[in-house]
Amino acid sequence: MVTLHNLGFPRMGAHRELKFALERHWRGEIDAQALETETQALRAQHWQMQRATGLDWVPVGDFALYDHVLDTSLALGVIPARFGARTQTRDLGLLFRMARGDANTTACEMTKWFDTNYHYLVPEFAVGQGFSLQANRLVDAFAEARHQGIPARPVLLGPLSYLWLGKTRPVPFDPLQLLDELVAVYGQWLEQLAAVGAEWVQIDEPILALDLPPAWKAAFESAYTQLARTPVRKLLTVYFGELRDNLALACHLPVDGLHIDAVRGSAEVNTLVDRLPAYKVLSLGVVDGRNIWRSELEPLLARLEPLYERLGERLWLAPSCSLLHVPQDLALEDGLDPELRGWLAFARQKLDELAILKRGLETGRAAIAGEIEASQAAALARACSPRIHRPEVKAGVQGIDAAMAQRAHPYAERAPAQRERLQLPLLPTTTIGSFPQTAEIRQARADYKAQRIDQTTYETAMRQAIAEAVERQEAIGLDVLVHGEAERNDMVEYFGEQLAGYAFTRHGWVQSYGSRCVKPPIIYGDVTRPVPMTVDWTGYAQSLTDKPVKGMLTGPVTLLQWSFVRNDQPRAITALQIALALREEVRDLEAAGTAIIQIDEPAFREGLPLRQADWNAYLDWAVRAFRIASAGVDDATQIHTHMCYAEFNDIIQAIAALDADVITIETSRSQMELLQAFEHFDYPNEIGPGVYDIHAPRLPSVAEMLALLERAGQGIPMDRLWVNPDCGLKTRRWEEVTPALQNMVEAARQLRERHG
Ligand code: GLN
Ligand code: ZN
Repeated sequence: MVTLHNLGFPRMGAHRELKFALERHWRGEIDAQALETETQALRAQHWQMQRATGLDWVPVGDFALYDHVLDTSLALGVIPARFGARTQTRDLGLLFRMARGDANTTACEMTKWFDTNYHYLVPEFAVGQGFSLQANRLVDAFAEARHQGIPARPVLLGPLSYLWLGKTRPVPFDPLQLLDELVAVYGQWLEQLAAVGAEWVQIDEPILALDLPPAWKAAFESAYTQLARTPVRKLLTVYFGELRDNLALACHLPVDGLHIDAVRGSAEVNTLVDRLPAYKVLSLGVVDGRNIWRSELEPLLARLEPLYERLGERLWLAPSCSLLHVPQDLALEDGLDPELRGWLAFARQKLDELAILKRGLETGRAAIAGEIEASQAAALARACSPRIHRPEVKAGVQGIDAAMAQRAHPYAERAPAQRERLQLPLLPTTTIGSFPQTAEIRQARADYKAQRIDQTTYETAMRQAIAEAVERQEAIGLDVLVHGEAERNDMVEYFGEQLAGYAFTRHGWVQSYGSRCVKPPIIYGDVTRPVPMTVDWTGYAQSLTDKPVKGMLTGPVTLLQWSFVRNDQPRAITALQIALALREEVRDLEAAGTAIIQIDEPAFREGLPLRQADWNAYLDWAVRAFRIASAGVDDATQIHTHMCYAEFNDIIQAIAALDADVITIETSRSQMELLQAFEHFDYPNEIGPGVYDIHAPRLPSVAEMLALLERAGQGIPMDRLWVNPDCGLKTRRWEEVTPALQNMVEAARQLRERHG
């Protein structure tokens, strides 16, 4: 028998029931009890659905009201002092205060979960941090599931990964100092789960797919040796990458089974089969939990058959990782092109695929002949569909040469040409692109989508918003204007909708954090740009003013990174295709007279692979894609880029290699850190370190921005310094934006006077 199991299921509900319940609760429309009842029903539904696909073990504890790392902190009593007493950890008030903060308390920091777009709440460890097992939701959920007859298996975030993902605050220290006490509490937790009837426990240790310092590897040995005595069987789960130098360690830890990501780590499967001790279960995550493509059953089966022969009952099958990162159910997508739909599998369909594989292994191929045939037919159709394969695009990528990734002259020669053309003052002021998405703008978009208004009416409304933005910017006295992005609801969707090769789902939501979901587009085919995408809007804005208006594009890496991508060609190739499409847009903007073009790459850093050994390969193609998109312009056309993160010291060389004339960067929470980077690295071109945090509702003062600029001027020559907020302003209101920008312009004026 092959055991089927799952590592985690999407929490939101097919119609985002969790999101809406949470938001009703936060608005005070339903109380905590009602929220608990609603979410209990949702969980039950998800368990039944998973069980119905034939799972032998259904994960429990993967469902979190806000975040599973936060649930772990609450269970272990890791509550930062500012939230008060370390009791009442099942209290929803405390949970949501930690997640979202309140008037007096800053929320816990949120950061990306490995290389996904899911954000977790960072555990905070103080010096001498204690741990104590609290009444916890995991035990409740387990009881709930058992009561419903579900073969439930609790899921825990393992102690090492939990420690690794946390931060020591306020003073830094080695978190491994906390390990012994933490492991003791994990021991109690496992005993508690055993006592309520858990047979197996899934312990997630995804950090085994990362580069680990020797002390952490040793810590794995000691922690799991300590936990070995607990009376419950333990499945250690690793996902998101290969084990590499951690393979021997993962094989030999004293647990009862090991799960690996057999999609990203497929090359290691045979080694593991050879090396895993004979008493252990080997769970292979053969169905991709990070993407939405239907599995090819025949080759998968061919790979699994000999393994099943060798492993027998010890072979378990699962998705590669939790299905949290894919949408729930393809059955809802009635609007998708049927051919494309036939190539896809969402969470529910992925579990079905596993059940088919199990049947094929246990009873022979004949039993699943129909399914194999359908899967082969879909794969074949996809491999040669004219919907996907456009010879001219492939030829375009083939034809890329070194010159296309290179501006005609180096920055030092371009800068005078740009100065001559733009006639900007010292310390030019600008913004990052978007202005407030007002109620009228959103209403017009919704009306247009629902066909309540026609295209002309919609375009008139957008033009009006653009005209208003231009007028306000002129009144504020900014030097380089933007059109304000009124027509864009999302910086990826807007371009994806106009590029060929992209598809959009109706319900393909994936949790980003808390109640927030994103609906990533699907890049399924060769990407081309049928018609210009931004030229009219930018041109219209430019027609209203004598000041330069920046053209505004989303860069190739971000367009790739925030989508589900093709698995039938390397990411690098897809990135180059997008880059070529953008290159045409850049050229069209230039031809229409746009003197400054900004290509945003907020996702540039998050594309970094988990293992440092893979960084260079990524950075090579990512930089190349950006350069191909941007380098086809004259010296006198100024290319800007914008990035949203503070920690970029480790890739600053690559950022410089983009060779943008100007880069604006988010510095919000760690301005000092950012500026320090420039003391160590001589950034060759112009730079606009964000002078105020647009995420904070507070009005920034002239004095503080002035101080920041002075400080920046020590590392960056004044004549290469720009003055701008740290990110787009679409989430703010004009009442906030106007005075903040007025202060910013005033700060620039005073500094010019001083250094004039
Ligand atoms: N130009 C975009 C905006 O201003 C950039 C958004 C971003 O950095 N994420 O909204
Ligand atoms: Zn930004």
